[in-house]
Amino acid sequence: MTLPILDLKRSFSEIKPEVFAALERIFDEQSFILGHEVRNFEAHCEEYLELPEGSCVGCASGTDALLLALMSCGIKPGDEVITTPFTFFATSGTIARLGAVPVFADVDPVTYNIDIQQAMTKITDKTKAFLPVHLFGQMCGLEDVIPELHRRGISVIEDAAQAFGASRIKDGKITRAGTVGDVGCYSFFPTKNLGGCGDGGMVATSDPERSERLRRLRVHGSGTTYYHEEVGINSRLDALQAAVLDIKLRHLEAWNEERRKVAEYYRLLFKTNDLQEFITAPVEVEGNYHIWHQYVVRVKSGRDELMEWLNSRGFAVRVYYPLPLHLQPCFGYLGYEAGDFPVSERLSREVLALPVFPGLKPEEQEELVRSMAEFFRA
Ligand SMILES: *Cc1c(COP(=O)(O)O)cnc(C)c1O
Repeated sequence: MTLPILDLKRSFSEIKPEVFAALERIFDEQSFILGHEVRNFEAHCEEYLELPEGSCVGCASGTDALLLALMSCGIKPGDEVITTPFTFFATSGTIARLGAVPVFADVDPVTYNIDIQQAMTKITDKTKAFLPVHLFGQMCGLEDVIPELHRRGISVIEDAAQAFGASRIKDGKITRAGTVGDVGCYSFFPTKNLGGCGDGGMVATSDPERSERLRRLRVHGSGTTYYHEEVGINSRLDALQAAVLDIKLRHLEAWNEERRKVAEYYRLLFKTNDLQEFITAPVEVEGNYHIWHQYVVRVKSGRDELMEWLNSRGFAVRVYYPLPLHLQPCFGYLGYEAGDFPVSERLSREVLALPVFPGLKPEEQEELVRSMAEFFRA
């Protein structure tokens, strides 16, 4: 058996004719950068995210979305930005790119998301922004701390690259990932839940002044062509990506529901195979709508051996992430050491991502979990 970690071909087959029709339309028009295809997609995202018109600003990648968001908060060299060390590199890479200082706080062992209480203790006079990540498709609960952060003049930037479509209910109020703070960042990298046919990203903000600034920043800081109010970057979404994403957006809810079924079935299979003493299944926190960008278990011991066992039997499993960011060679200058963030460090030794995607068959999950059981009982 060969089971990939993600098989995009299965969901693509559902939309192939629509996608090809859109591509033909765009090639006939020969209009490739920004334009009405991009605005159309942005408008549909605004509807989906329940944001005011004009809130969504497409850009070239999730990494650029973070960079633009930080620029829109005026982050300068020497400013401190509090974030998590247990995430994809871009979250803190973009902070460092602007000459600012990533200040890490450890994560919660159950949700893998930043430990908000610890993060609050990292605030100093230099803190300008808080940049939490909604990791693996589950939102972290920010609603209780945002008023306090704002009172202290700290901007809240959400890295929702893995969480487009995730939501959360607290005290009867529903919030969507990327719309809770001052600005939300999304990635449309092909492997994300909403992924294009190349790089793409988006920033979202309900503040019209900020969205106008973001629109300028993505075209070299120019409001009127060839007149530049500030120095921006070149980061535009293209028409091909926007058209494909617009089609996929209509399927996103159904595809996320399929992922949720996969996650539910894994939990059941771990029980029926008596695996609870060997692995810890990921948890959906009460009130959260988890969209399972990744299904990440913790293996109590022998993670690397299990990974080798499964990979050699055709089951693709992966480690997200093997080295926390505070220990990356490029951040040596920040002065962190092993032991500074014990939860992140332990997770990096224990986590294992199993296949989760729309179209994954129950039989495939059964075979994978059976093979896991064989490993532990060998
Ligand atoms: C994918 C990802 C990014 C970066 O997105 P790109 O589109 O690949 O640039 C940033 N943060 C997180 C958490 C991601 O998963």
